[in-house]
Amino acid sequence: MKNEELWRVVLGELEVTLSRASFSTWFRSTSILTLENGKAVIGVPNAFTKEWLQNKYHDAIVQALRKALPLVSEVAYEIVSRHPPLAAEEHGEDQSEEVGGEKSSPTHEGMTSSRGGVLSLNPRYTFARFVVGSNNELARAAAVAVATTPGVAYNPLFIYGGVGLGKTHLMQAIGNEILKRSSGKTLTYITSERFTSELVEAIRTQQTNGFKNRYRTTDLFLVDDIQFFSGKERSQEEFFHTFNAIQQNGGQIVITADRPPRAIPMIEDRLRSRFEGGMLVDIQPPDLETRMAIIRSKAIEKHVTLEEAVIHFIASHFTTNIRELEGALNRIIAHSELSNTPPTLTSVEESLEGVIAASHTRPSARRILEAVARFYDVTTEDLTSPSRRKEFVVPRQIAAFLMREELKASYPSIGNELGGRDHTTVMHACNKIDGLTKRDDALRQSITLIRERLYTM
Ligand code: ADP
Ligand code: MG
Repeated sequence: MKNEELWRVVLGELEVTLSRASFSTWFRSTSILTLENGKAVIGVPNAFTKEWLQNKYHDAIVQALRKALPLVSEVAYEIVSRHPPLAAEEHGEDQSEEVGGEKSSPTHEGMTSSRGGVLSLNPRYTFARFVVGSNNELARAAAVAVATTPGVAYNPLFIYGGVGLGKTHLMQAIGNEILKRSSGKTLTYITSERFTSELVEAIRTQQTNGFKNRYRTTDLFLVDDIQFFSGKERSQEEFFHTFNAIQQNGGQIVITADRPPRAIPMIEDRLRSRFEGGMLVDIQPPDLETRMAIIRSKAIEKHVTLEEAVIHFIASHFTTNIRELEGALNRIIAHSELSNTPPTLTSVEESLEGVIAASHTRPSARRILEAVARFYDVTTEDLTSPSRRKEFVVPRQIAAFLMREELKASYPSIGNELGGRDHTTVMHACNKIDGLTKRDDALRQSITLIRERLYTM
């Protein structure tokens, strides 16, 4: 077996065990350089990838290699450089510490970031204030790499994840870090909605040329919540050209969205492929420990002391959205300031009683239908209609799955809600989606988002 073939087999093996985002991030542009005397040398594009493969995926790689070729006894990694060596590569591992600590104070002079209707960065959104957990370590590491060597390492960087999980925070941390490190760079932070409304205004006042030139020379282009470009053809067109111009000028682009590119409906293929051609990283909901760590860190920021029991209580009641978790914490602090007593478990339970009760109300079948329809840009009638069109079938199956999971509804009653379908059809749908969520990251992410919306609609 040639090295190339062998590597393809190994990649095939790894692809099924890793999440899609991790796989495409870490294994694209890798190869077997040499295989001699049982020692395989894997070629990687940069030091950053090398480190991650060594630290996180080494065992998986060795296992997959041995499965294909039992005589492999050793695996090493070597950087195959297509670029001149990067600054980050020279510095090696200490880069994250350097970025994490707030050592040097921000020097914003030399910045000419006043362009158009650009939004400004929140100075609190720094790497130092971003709590790392297994849910976001990949996204954070990628963001740090981009802040260290913008325009080189990963371009574009595409960060996706559910509402309130820190996408904007991380994106702005890149901006704040670059402001701190280098003067004379231009930076633009904008939401896709703002981009669209500026474009509309430019068209109305016949100043589209001005609009075209506004963003194209920026060094760092941060575009938040790109999913709102869905269906907006003119915005996508302008954005596409802006994107290309910035990239050609060696600028760095960072994009966030609430879902991966291929799950955003009504986005032109050429844009989608641009997004997928960069680095895709996701942020998942944090686990209990990470949520507790976030509360501790926010409490320190706000100069309050909380008992562990209180921290645990808040963390166990706000599970999917850090913004809500922060909201709860603010409410607790306000409460304790008003009553002039430190927060105790009892007082916290009281002050959050209403909020927690509201977040625990179960959604109805109707709401599930509405949430799914809205997410997939179809109508609830489409979902309950007899039509077997492809664009209705999967959303309908997801609705069935969610009714089963969230409402614990019986198969026949779900069949009724979905326009009088047979219970075996419903059962099949639920099993199918259940199976798919285990393999398909994009689908799992979509369902997480729909779930979130069910409770916040
Ligand atoms: P998104 O853009 O994904 O909806 P945001 O970036 O606006 O979410 O985050 C919501 C809030 O939660 C912000 O106040 C942010 O600082 C906080 N937050 C999110 N993730 C973290 C984290 N890992 N560490 C600290 N704070 C976080
Ligand atoms: Mg955001």
